[in-house]
Amino acid sequence: MRKVIIDTDTAGDDTIAILTALHYFDVQGIMITGGNVDFGQQVENALYTVQVAGKGGQIPVYKGYQAPILQLGTDKHLTVEDVHGSDGMGGANFPKAEQRAETMHAVDFLIDAVHANPGEIELLAIAPLTNIAMAIKKDPSIVPEIKHLHIMGGTNNDLGNITPAAEYNFYVDPEAARIVLNAGIPTTMVGWEMCTRYSIMEDRDHEDIEQLHTAGSAFFVAVNKVVKQFNKAVHKINGTTHPDTLLMAVAANPTLMEKSGNYYVDVETKGEFTRGYSVVDINGRLQKPANVTVCEQINKPTFKEMLLEVLRAIK
Ligand code: CA
Repeated sequence: MRKVIIDTDTAGDDTIAILTALHYFDVQGIMITGGNVDFGQQVENALYTVQVAGKGGQIPVYKGYQAPILQLGTDKHLTVEDVHGSDGMGGANFPKAEQRAETMHAVDFLIDAVHANPGEIELLAIAPLTNIAMAIKKDPSIVPEIKHLHIMGGTNNDLGNITPAAEYNFYVDPEAARIVLNAGIPTTMVGWEMCTRYSIMEDRDHEDIEQLHTAGSAFFVAVNKVVKQFNKAVHKINGTTHPDTLLMAVAANPTLMEKSGNYYVDVETKGEFTRGYSVVDINGRLQKPANVTVCEQINKPTFKEMLLEVLRAIK
């Protein structure tokens, strides 16, 4: 099984993504980055999700950076309780898991794990890229030893979700995204527009999931309760979006990507309206070498099958 490390701001779809990764990969550890909701809550959400997968105590969870690189003083980055519920878990307020987070910092864990498995570790990034950027800053010698980086973030010349221009993960820490994208790690990016086009689970898909009658399907329903209403009201989307789960599925099964392109990708860090916008230079106007494989089309039925397989397996 391929060895991976997950970097997550665990709320909403991050949980289903973690279940998906635990199903398809040998997960070495889970790192938490500041993002979706209160940091301590995200840690609890990740620990609880590991327990739901039946792997409590087996997958270490590491606390990383709680805030973006440039966050000053008592400023707070934008959290999205309105999307995922106050607890980031659809308001389900699950009990605390028995497993506790490790004391080692996530960045030190990442550096040690990569050096201990040179050329073997793949990173599954489903949060702002703060932890990964800081690890690269702390020890640039990890870069050539990382096998692949899979990122859910940005858009490919398309509509953002947190502002018209920007997708949430890149918007929260654009400087981190720049550092990571320009580091030279082989990278695949699944942008937000892939999620709105190919990852939406509509009411009838939810019915198929409920019909599984497993602990996994019950968890899926609970976690997605708030986001379902939010999507209808704000994004005019009839169903739930699964950006992080889609990223895991693409990483596990690259043939899921029916179309992709290799482009130069960078991130706007200034911009009155465009901070966090991902520049995907499809026509090569910047004359820079391609640094990212950008996902452009997904086989949706296969994605749904993979999701069902994951939820079916959690009894
Ligand atoms: Ca996430």
